[in-house]
Amino acid sequence: MIDSYTRQIGDLEIQVLPGQCIGSSACVHTAPDVFQLNDQNISEPTSDGSDSEENILLAAQACPTAAIVIRKKGKQVWPE
Ligand code: SF4
Repeated sequence: MIDSYTRQIGDLEIQVLPGQCIGSSACVHTAPDVFQLNDQNISEPTSDGSDSEENILLAAQACPTAAIVIRKKGKQVWPE
């Protein structure tokens, strides 16, 4: 883990941009084992939960402010 907002699951690197997160919870509802809101109402990847690549990508795509960046094997796949 690079910082509390970045996490690797399998081939995916998941990064939340805390400055862009508005705490809408869309990612948490879509992939609750991977995203959680911290005490400042900002999404953070969980430390040990997991989910399918497809659902993690869906969670990122559900974010209204594009605050979740997904890279697969180092290549950014979301936002496109
Ligand atoms: S969907 Fe986006 S804005 Fe909403 S909590 Fe998740 S990262 Fe934050």
